[in-house]
Amino acid sequence: MLQDKDRIFTNLYGLQDYRLEAAKQRGAWNATAEMLQMGPEWIIQQIKDSGLRGRGGAGFPTGLKWSFMPKEVRDRPHYLIVNADESEPGTCKDREIMRHDPHLFIEGCLIASFAMKANVCYIYIRGEYIFEREQLQRAIDEAYAAKLIGPGNIHGWDFDLYLAHGAGAYICGEETALLESLEGKKGQPRLKPPFPAGAGLYGCPSTVNNVESIAVVGTILRRGAGWFKSFGRDNNAGTKLFCISGHVNKPCNVEEEMSIPLRTLIDRHCGGVRGGWDNLKAVIPGGSSVRCLPKDICDDVLMDFDALREHKSGLGTAAVIVMDKSTDMVRAIARIAYFYKHESCGQCTPCREGTGWMWRVLTRMAEGDAEMWEIDKLLDVAGQIEGHTICALGDAAAWPIQGLIQHFRHEIEDKITNYRAGKPHVQVAAAE
Ligand code: SF4
Repeated sequence: MLQDKDRIFTNLYGLQDYRLEAAKQRGAWNATAEMLQMGPEWIIQQIKDSGLRGRGGAGFPTGLKWSFMPKEVRDRPHYLIVNADESEPGTCKDREIMRHDPHLFIEGCLIASFAMKANVCYIYIRGEYIFEREQLQRAIDEAYAAKLIGPGNIHGWDFDLYLAHGAGAYICGEETALLESLEGKKGQPRLKPPFPAGAGLYGCPSTVNNVESIAVVGTILRRGAGWFKSFGRDNNAGTKLFCISGHVNKPCNVEEEMSIPLRTLIDRHCGGVRGGWDNLKAVIPGGSSVRCLPKDICDDVLMDFDALREHKSGLGTAAVIVMDKSTDMVRAIARIAYFYKHESCGQCTPCREGTGWMWRVLTRMAEGDAEMWEIDKLLDVAGQIEGHTICALGDAAAWPIQGLIQHFRHEIEDKITNYRAGKPHVQVAAAE
């Protein structure tokens, strides 16, 4: 169990003051100047050595990503962009960092920008996060006033930090759509390559990182790469914020060690599954876009990137959605399919047409009003969307459906059989 002394986010629940003086007492801005004196290469190597993998969903090694930026600034400025668009259903961890520990985050922005030789950083915050934007802006203003950031600051690296407010589109959490939106254009993903490190914001070298990935940087450097790496399994290092929702007794956000068993996470921090562990039906372990896992896998699966990938699911944003036996799995996944249909930007045919098609078929299936052969047809179409689109939203729409058919095919078949026999069935609610 992660001990309090090893927590990075010591004000996750907002029990203490978020402002500068209190944040300093908790450790933020401590020895930041000394870290910068060690130089960009030392910082990047420390982050590589710590084993930190991106906390936004993809799990790409953060230090390696930083090392893709050009070593010297030439004709174009470098930018750090922090993705605070947090829109994956079930995910609410970056929100807590921005509300309650914003100085840890701002300090991370400075250190990461310095490591990549960026004098400007943009934080792109989700449209619905009004309070979080206000709170973060207050903290940024405090940091400017204390000359911790800004031109001629006490750290000796001129650094401006801007907060850009999105308009509430899920797709703007995709890094290139985010860049388009930041440039004032319609938020639609770009084809890659070129990758942002070569041509990102305004065509300049840019790196896009998640809030949590940046907010942990200062503490990793203060306490050492070895300390961070001592948590979790090989290749899955560190502490992690988990957001646990759904059919548990006490839904919560909690910082825990990576690779903690799922069952331990739920029992220790959420008071267990509603009705007891044996009442569990399935868990979506990493936000709505990953494949669900049935109870027999949940019994002993570990919460990390590699363990969940072995089961064809993923850690994603570590948003754990728990579903007990009262859940109509077909209806639940149909609702998720509606979300992805609604959020598709429409650029690629498989995603634009396929997400709506899959949602309509699943909506019928949730009532049982389908043919048995349509299950394989649905699986086939999901497979044709997966990997055939500009961005990962196509995959995100396909995976939950593939997980449903892989693990809960019998529920769809039962519905179809019952419908034909004229037995009562669950009506799927008209999507709002
Ligand atoms: Fe847009 Fe979907 Fe294509 Fe992504 S996969 S670019 S969301 S149409």
